[in-house]
Amino acid sequence: MLDKLKKYFGYDGFLPLQEEVIDHIMRGQEALVLMPTGGGKSLCYQLPALELPGVTLVISPLIALMKDQVDGLSANGIKAAYINSSLDYSEIAMVESQVARGEIKLLYLAPERLALPRVQSFLRTLEVSLLAIDEAHCISEWGHDFRPEYRNLHVLRAICPKAKIIALTATANQRVEQDILRQLNLNRARVFKSGFDRPNLSYEVLPKKQVLQNLVKELEKIPKQSAIVYCLSRKRAEKMALDLNKNGFKAACYHAGMTGVQRSRAQEAFIRDRVDVITATIAFGMGIDKPDVRLVAHVDLPKSVEGYYQETGRAGRDGLPSRCLLFFSKGDVFKHEYFICQIQDMDERDRLRRQVNDVIKYGELKTCRRRYLLGYFGETSLRENCGACDICCPKAEVKTPEVQSLVYDKALFEILRDARRRLAEDQGVPPYVIFADKSLQQMAAYYPQTVSSMAGIFGVGREKLERYGQIFIDIIKEYCVPLNLPEKTPRPVTSDRAVKTAVTSTVLATLDLFKSNKSLKQTADLRGLKTAQIITHLETALEGGEKFDWSGLYVPEQRLANIAEAFKNSGGFLLAPARALLGEEYDYDEIRLARLIIKARS
Ligand code: ADP
Ligand code: ZN
Repeated sequence: MLDKLKKYFGYDGFLPLQEEVIDHIMRGQEALVLMPTGGGKSLCYQLPALELPGVTLVISPLIALMKDQVDGLSANGIKAAYINSSLDYSEIAMVESQVARGEIKLLYLAPERLALPRVQSFLRTLEVSLLAIDEAHCISEWGHDFRPEYRNLHVLRAICPKAKIIALTATANQRVEQDILRQLNLNRARVFKSGFDRPNLSYEVLPKKQVLQNLVKELEKIPKQSAIVYCLSRKRAEKMALDLNKNGFKAACYHAGMTGVQRSRAQEAFIRDRVDVITATIAFGMGIDKPDVRLVAHVDLPKSVEGYYQETGRAGRDGLPSRCLLFFSKGDVFKHEYFICQIQDMDERDRLRRQVNDVIKYGELKTCRRRYLLGYFGETSLRENCGACDICCPKAEVKTPEVQSLVYDKALFEILRDARRRLAEDQGVPPYVIFADKSLQQMAAYYPQTVSSMAGIFGVGREKLERYGQIFIDIIKEYCVPLNLPEKTPRPVTSDRAVKTAVTSTVLATLDLFKSNKSLKQTADLRGLKTAQIITHLETALEGGEKFDWSGLYVPEQRLANIAEAFKNSGGFLLAPARALLGEEYDYDEIRLARLIIKARS
């Protein structure tokens, strides 16, 4: 399983509970998985889906997210597709025929489609091994996000009698948990529950004074990275976006008073890193899976602790240290009081007042803020001092000591982020689909300059190694060679075997084609790769002791001699210094090819 994890997802190990859940599912059992945001729920059904026969159906309520999820899986070389109302009839027919041919391992479906007789009869024809019910709390009226369409799910048992169910949610509520088990008929399911602590998030409360200046100061600490600023009113959100733009930040505003088009434009700009800050009312967030939000700031008093925890939960899904700031003034309570007074139902008024009071308590705490938040959801077994809130860690800037924090080259990180953004724009996917921040940070820390060291980087699985490996290796070399920065060892990997699997499977696929008498160009075309990547693969194969007939590789002898001379004079086998000596008349592919021939002959 570890090898598969590296090969498909580029990870070296499992997050808590993942391995247990996957093992359980692979043994044909059912499960309800309760994990916090960022806990890694998706992998719990994605990895089994690759191993099980037939197809896995994933039921997900958020149509906007399906495309991103499918893009993310495709970038890892996993065959996935979705069917929802954003597709037209012919597109749906196309997906259906792919599924029918067994070409799709994960099919995402919106729950409302299950009510359609046509869809039901289509599903009956399939071999469905696993049903993954994402955001399973939506089935319960006790949850904060009840969706009537989720009641359609009970038909799945009848339509796919052989399929096992895995239900997943980030909700922490006992009543909802029982409701999910009952409604989905999960009598024999095991419940997997991880704690709801988010160890990579720090919690801080600042006095609500000179909010704009102070917010600007905090945002300046995370240049060009993503932040969400929650405001109580639409007007305030709009003004805040304006003010931040005046202060040199790229900010956009989002609230329910904007048109659908305006809202999706703002959301899209944020997801694609075209703006860094989104200033929003609580209307923003559902359906945002952006993993690299580094700061969530509330500039007004939240309505409830539940809401606050959910909103701050959108920070740091990728596990990297991220901050949750509350600009607190007890005086804000009057703004809520104004709304509360307009409610007729006295019990409801009382309930809302109690909720606001609990937020006031949070703001005025003299004890650990994390303990309070988790205590609110019934978790008690926490340490006295969390080390990552402003009470446990006064004055000094709050750090999140438990987290993977790496010292990396900030300048190279920025260059890599830029390249990622451009590549993402070209391919019409969010940047995080290409590589996570953590992957770029590792590249900026370890300077990988060969295929096999690139394969050791977090998040670099077989498919990403092929698609993007060489592009990023070239950028890193371009940066490192003039500065004389060598690769750093040891590589940050724990499992060398897994890395080897990733390298060998991609290199061997190239070698097979090449051995069947295809030219470099033909091999590149068949694999959908660049010639440079094919040459690099052959070089890796050669260095790994693979034998193949290289006599068909050709560079005119005189030019080959000149290139060999240039390598000798530049003191190694690096491309950029050799090219500097050779001049523009020699392009990189030729120099690369010559290097392969020289190595093969020696
Ligand atoms: P959830 O749905 O529980 O909020 P996700 O499935 O979106 O969480 O995963 C959260 C983040 O953790 C994603 O960025 C994902 O790529 C990453 N992740 C998942 N599993 C692992 C793992 N085993 N090792 C490292 N990162 C992981
Ligand atoms: Zn604390």
